Amino acid sequence: MTLSSVFCSTLLLGNYVDASKGKYATLVDIDKCDGCKDESIPLCTKACREYNKDRIPEPQKPILPYWPRKTYEDWSNKRDKIDTLTPYNWIFIQKVKIEDEEIFIPRRCMHCDNPPCVRQCPFGALSKYSEGNSVINDKLCFGGAKCRDVCP
Ligand code: SF4
Ligand code: SF4
Repeated sequence: MTLSSVFCSTLLLGNYVDASKGKYATLVDIDKCDGCKDESIPLCTKACREYNKDRIPEPQKPILPYWPRKTYEDWSNKRDKIDTLTPYNWIFIQKVKIEDEEIFIPRRCMHCDNPPCVRQCPFGALSKYSEGNSVINDKLCFGGAKCRDVCP
């Protein structure tokens, strides 16, 4: 698919996506999650980091501004950060206090139905697959992070 055809399909179809049939899902029972309070790092976070550790290419430095971006974010010096999503950390545990109860919510991409990230990407770099996963095409992504801005 060429870049122009991606633009056209994005404009014409408005990035409409429907993954209502045959989807995979991960169910998280937050009644059972204790945030791995006794661990130095939550085990799901640790496992995800270990499994995906080689998937982000090592940045070549100095990083130069690349068109059309005038700025860039370099997370490679913050690889140990586990309290938010980063290119090196794909699950974090959010602690929420409701009345007197503390609950822990594993946060990561929810692969939303009709995901706003897919609908909002101006370059059509995101796709919703019929299996339910929302996927970024790293050959088309310019790093403008509109997907991050609209992600719930
Ligand atoms: S979901 Fe993650 S943080 Fe929660 S108990 Fe399981 S491994 Fe620990
Ligand atoms: S909007 Fe956020 S949570 Fe939903 S599919 Fe996109 S990246 Fe995942």
